[in-house]
Amino acid sequence: MSEEIELGYTADYHVHLRQGKMMEVVTKSVTPGGVSIAYIMPNLSPPITDIDRVVEYKASLEAISPKTTFLMSFYLCKELTPELVEKAAKMGAIQGIKCYPAGVTTNSTDGVDPNDFSAFYPIFKVMEDNDLVLNLHGEKPSVSKKHGESHESSEDIHVLNAEPKFLPALFKLHSDFPNLRIVLEHCTTKEAIEAMHKLNSDLKAGEQPKVVASITAHHLYLTIDDWAGNPINFCKPVAKLPEDKRALIGAALSGKPYFIFGSDSAPHELSKKSLHIGVCAGVYTQPYAISYVAEVFHQYGQIGKLKNFVSTFGNAFYSIDESKLKSKDKCVIVKKEFKVPEVLIDNNITIAPFLPGSTLQWSVEWTSS
Ligand SMILES: [Zn+2]
Repeated sequence: MSEEIELGYTADYHVHLRQGKMMEVVTKSVTPGGVSIAYIMPNLSPPITDIDRVVEYKASLEAISPKTTFLMSFYLCKELTPELVEKAAKMGAIQGIKCYPAGVTTNSTDGVDPNDFSAFYPIFKVMEDNDLVLNLHGEKPSVSKKHGESHESSEDIHVLNAEPKFLPALFKLHSDFPNLRIVLEHCTTKEAIEAMHKLNSDLKAGEQPKVVASITAHHLYLTIDDWAGNPINFCKPVAKLPEDKRALIGAALSGKPYFIFGSDSAPHELSKKSLHIGVCAGVYTQPYAISYVAEVFHQYGQIGKLKNFVSTFGNAFYSIDESKLKSKDKCVIVKKEFKVPEVLIDNNITIAPFLPGSTLQWSVEWTSS
C-alpha cells in the first residue's frame, strides 16, 4: 500500500481566480489542486470594492467549484468607507481587505501609498473592531521613472529591496492597531522572516498570533537566477537570493503558527507571458498547489509537518468554523508520482503551469464525507 497523509481542510490563503473565461478555467483547478478553503483576491478589473460585486463574484466561483469554501476580500482604496466595511463584515460578505501599494502588480493601479496609511485608519479601526483581516502586499512601490524624468526620491527602491523597505510600515501598523489581524502576503526575504519572528517574540504556546506571513509554493523553489530570462517563473514579488529561499523554507518547516500557506497562484495566458515587452508577473500553481508544497517538505524529510502549514495554522488564524465549510471532504496526499504538463489548454486558453514537464511525488486525493 502506498504511503498517504491526511491533511484535513487544506487552505490556500492567497488565490487569484480572475474573471470571465480565465475564471471558468482556473476555478475548476482549486479542488484537484488539493485546496478546500480558498481566500480570494479582489484585484479584478475594476477592483472589488462593493458588497453586490463581492456577493456576485463569490456566487459565480461557487457555481464552478461547489466543494470549495470561498473567503472573500475587498480591495483597499478611497472608495471604501468605514460604514461599508462594517456592513460587509456584519453580513459575512468579506473576511478581509487586501492592500496593494499602487502600481506594484497586476491590476494595482488603484492601490495605496504605503508611505502613509493614515487616510485609511478609520477603516482599519472598523476592521479591528469587526475582526476582519488586513492582507498586505508588502512592497514599497519602485521609484523608477520613465526615460527623461528626474529621480526625485531620496530612496532607491527596486524589486530586490521593495519588501525589506516596506517592513517598517508593517511594524507601525501593528503597533497602531495591536488587535488587527494582519497578513504579510507572499513574503520573499530573510528580512521579512526575521520581522515575523520579532513581531511574534512574545507569543506564548497555544496563543494565536495577530500578525502572520503567507508563503507561496513557488518561492520555496525559485531564486533570482530562475526568473531572469524565464518569464514562466517571473512573478511579483520576484524570487530573491538563495539565502532568502533558505529562510522561507526554514519558516515553512518551522512549525511556527505565524507562517501559513498562500499560493498567490496568478494565471496569465501564455501569450501574455511571451511578450517582448511587458511580460505579465505571476506563477500558476493552483492545479498542483498542495503537491508542489509537499515536494519541498518531502525533500527536507518533514512531510509530517505539512498539515500545520497548509491547513492547521492558517485555519486557526482565520478562525475557520468547520461547521460552515462547503464540503467536509478532507485532502489526502498519496505517494504516487505524476508529471506536470508542459501547458494546460482549456476553453481556448493556454497557460503554462509552474515547473512544466517536471515530476512531482505526491498526488492529491479526497476522502468523501
Ligand atoms: Zn497576489
